[in-house]
Amino acid sequence: MRVILLGPPGAGKGTQAQRLVEKYGIVQLSTGDMLRAAVAASTPVGLRAKDIMTRGELVPDEVVVAIIADRIAQRDAANGFVLDGFPRTVAQAEALDRLLASKGLKLDAVINLKVDHDILLRRIETRVAQMRARREAVRADDNPEALKKRLSAYHSQTAPLAAYYRGKGLLKSTDGMAVIDDVTAAIERLLAGVGEAIPQGGRGLTQRERRPVRAGKTRKKAASRKRADAKRAGGRRSGRKRLARGGSVKSAARKGARRRTTRLKAKRRRG
Ligand code: AMP
Repeated sequence: MRVILLGPPGAGKGTQAQRLVEKYGIVQLSTGDMLRAAVAASTPVGLRAKDIMTRGELVPDEVVVAIIADRIAQRDAANGFVLDGFPRTVAQAEALDRLLASKGLKLDAVINLKVDHDILLRRIETRVAQMRARREAVRADDNPEALKKRLSAYHSQTAPLAAYYRGKGLLKSTDGMAVIDDVTAAIERLLAGVGEAIPQGGRGLTQRERRPVRAGKTRKKAASRKRADAKRAGGRRSGRKRLARGGSVKSAARKGARRRTTRLKAKRRRG
């Protein structure tokens, strides 16, 4: 399952992405989180992005596209992913299309969380004020000035993505202002029957094992296939190699003796 969550800052993309992670065993790829980690670690990307982010503006496309390309190439993303905060411009969406096409992958759906911007802005301002009152850490870009910039960047640069994905037949919209559990339920309905519904246990399996784990197929089947593969691979190994790979001394000796006997018998038959 490869999904994009689309929606302005504060629409609840992060919360819903987490729930998709739990339900489908996919990974959450949040460019905002990755950039904040880069800023905290003072990496070259972080140093480049820091001030841009504090102002509430968008980091250059090539920077975020490179981050996402790296991340999608990692093994844990092979089961699928939910993109949260990426793409944010049409250029990023086009780069993502090229990236996925080069890997023979495709997107399954784009979930658009529809919100009322005035209500959203008031909600975020209230939440930030409450956090400050409780002396909790507040993001550098969670101030009224930067928030307005982030929302305006969303309007001008990200909102056109809805039309972009509608044109590709991928857009599915839901009310992002509903209570969190209702939004989750709506998203699950929208995703029912979309892509590969890989259950939690699909994580960590190889490509070959993952393929059959679709709706209707069980985790048990994948596990038994994995055991069968392991057995086949083990069967081809010599006793010595088995031992080196952690097999028991007894089984390695048995295996080695069996092979020696077979070879001896064949030799005798040949005369
Ligand atoms: P977020 O946590 O998604 O609200 O992102 C926080 C900030 O990181 C944004 O205001 C941008 O400055 C930057 N950012 C995150 N994702 C992207 C992206 N896809 N393109 C450009 N800038 C981004």
